[in-house]
Amino acid sequence: MSERPAVDRLTCILCPVGCDLEVERDAAGGARVRGNQCDKGVPFAVEEVLRPKRNLATSVPVKGAAAKLVSVRLSRPVPREMIFPILAVIAGLRPEAPVRRGQVLVADVLGTGADVIATRTVS
Ligand code: SF4
Repeated sequence: MSERPAVDRLTCILCPVGCDLEVERDAAGGARVRGNQCDKGVPFAVEEVLRPKRNLATSVPVKGAAAKLVSVRLSRPVPREMIFPILAVIAGLRPEAPVRRGQVLVADVLGTGADVIATRTVS
């Protein structure tokens, strides 16, 4: 019985064309991309299938502020498997007012290279 190659299908979101991409993974850990109408679709598809990353946005309570929550997000996408561990770190945050938009609340969270930053000012 022959082993069929693993094929993932996804839509490229880098431009409005929205190419339907096929990514065929090989046993050596590489991948071949089909369906892209330009070269930008290849690294997008390979990263999405082999090393998917995500950003996240949520909010945390602020001590001593009339508006009790401040919205936060990561400064850059992180490996998808780090999202829940990072959410656990964020769940423990209780910054003191005032919090400024762009303020780093956690630098290099869990060694990912991403910072947790406030996206609004709460005073
Ligand atoms: S592969 Fe190129 S043309 Fe197709 S959606 Fe992605 S960026 Fe646009």
